[in-house]
Amino acid sequence: MNKTEELRKVQDDVFALSGELADYRRQENTFAVFGEGSHDAEIVFIGEAPGKNEAKTGRPFCGAAGKILDELLESIQMAREEVYITNIVKDRPPDNRDPLPGEIELYAPFLDQQLTIIQPQTIATLGRFSMEYIMRRFDLSFELEPMSAAHGKVFEVKAPWSSVRIVPLYHPAASIYNHKLRDTLFKDIKVLKSS
Ligand code: URA
Repeated sequence: MNKTEELRKVQDDVFALSGELADYRRQENTFAVFGEGSHDAEIVFIGEAPGKNEAKTGRPFCGAAGKILDELLESIQMAREEVYITNIVKDRPPDNRDPLPGEIELYAPFLDQQLTIIQPQTIATLGRFSMEYIMRRFDLSFELEPMSAAHGKVFEVKAPWSSVRIVPLYHPAASIYNHKLRDTLFKDIKVLKSS
């Protein structure tokens, strides 16, 4: 099986899930958001969970936060098609509430499989939830700090496929009404340029 076929299989498993968020997806006639981009991406971006626009289209980061992510990528001359963009939780929580620990636990194995298949050299987390999950997953719990301290740092870890850089970033949505955070995000993202 090639990477695309392997990812398709994981996606099918997500689509077939049951549980509160998956039931909500079916009730609302919306989509799970698996992820999109290059299956050979060197950089994988991981957000939190789909919002309204994402659930409507099945595409990650296609609303207001996505517009900022696009601008961030453009600022380092990177095309959306050359990276891979996904979330920990693949179904939209009602009213865009924070994902619950049990929901992260349910969806995270699919994210793990995506990473194992894509084998990125850099994982950029967007927001607190993906930062905490990924840092724990790669045995960096002892390095966990609040986002205000962790953002823009680079952590080198050993993944089964290669060494990987983990870069925690603020969630783009946090910067929509906060110009200082926006400047910080544009500064932090530069660290990805040298990967
Ligand atoms: N926020 C996220 O965390 N993910 C999306 O896909 C969109 C908004």
